[in-house]
Amino acid sequence: MDLLRKLTQTSGTPANEDAIREIVRKELEPLVDEVRQDNLGNLIGVKRGNGGPRVMLAAHMDQIGFMVSHIDDKGFLRINPTGGFDPRTLLNQRVTVHGKKVLSGVIGSKPIHVLSAEERKKALEVKDYFIDLGLPGDKVKELVRVGDMVTWVGDLDEMGDMWCSRAMDDRIGVYIMIEALKKLKDHDCTIYACATVQEEVGIRGATAAAAEIKPEIGIALDVTIANDVPGAQEKDQITIMGGGIGIKHMDGASISSPKLVRHLQDVADAAEISWQPEILPAGGTDAGAIWRVPGGAHVCTLSVPSRYVHSTVEMVHKEDVQGGIDLLAAWLGEAGKVKY
Ligand SMILES: [Zn+2]
Repeated sequence: MDLLRKLTQTSGTPANEDAIREIVRKELEPLVDEVRQDNLGNLIGVKRGNGGPRVMLAAHMDQIGFMVSHIDDKGFLRINPTGGFDPRTLLNQRVTVHGKKVLSGVIGSKPIHVLSAEERKKALEVKDYFIDLGLPGDKVKELVRVGDMVTWVGDLDEMGDMWCSRAMDDRIGVYIMIEALKKLKDHDCTIYACATVQEEVGIRGATAAAAEIKPEIGIALDVTIANDVPGAQEKDQITIMGGGIGIKHMDGASISSPKLVRHLQDVADAAEISWQPEILPAGGTDAGAIWRVPGGAHVCTLSVPSRYVHSTVEMVHKEDVQGGIDLLAAWLGEAGKVKY
């Protein structure tokens, strides 16, 4: 849990992944033969194999967040989102503004007491919110610049059978990648363990990394929706918490290679790892970048079922996470033994 705490509580929004990248670098270095970083900031750990295929693993380091877009004379900040936000999740959240100093702030909006009847009916948009740092305007202008990173606050909690934190998307994927490499024994494939950047703004890091690596197989590690909550019908659940690691068939950005999906299912069954099929009607993962390499690549995503994705309380089930680690380690040991 210490590693997961470090991963979820270190900040890194798209293109501002420096701090989280150094945490991941320290973890990857003892596990692989070589760690390199590309110009975009992707971290690529190479673990050489024995004549097997080139396998790219992709877990994104960036988390959704904001950039400061305007500072007014009273010291209130306006923000531009970096990643997809549901504006309803923003009201009165605590945030951190990463200026010349690390500053605590809250997200405010016009009080309900002074809203007109018309305004009360309207859903708030990101542009309706502001950040209050509790400091006078001149002090704020001294410490904060347009373009500075803003992240929200959300500690890691152990909650029943679950873990709950901000940035579980996708630090849980990074965690699974690191833990699977620790567990891995013999393997023929050459593994490119990529902690990618800028996934939340359109799978940009993985696109650049895959073009360089030219993998034959790509496995993305990410969260997916667990819509197993009151009011949802069984057919609309996507996945359920505690139902096992998700093996993706498709989403809005990729269709998984059917033979790779079958192989992952077979490896899971043989090792008695529970899994569930996943189809996500919209959205995507780094797998949506990897299949595009010249010549194409077989891709799939191992998906961790998650409630409240893109909020401060993203929740995952401990057993699903362990299943992801076990399945990835077991499959890497088999990669190349079946032709797709
Ligand atoms: Zn993600």
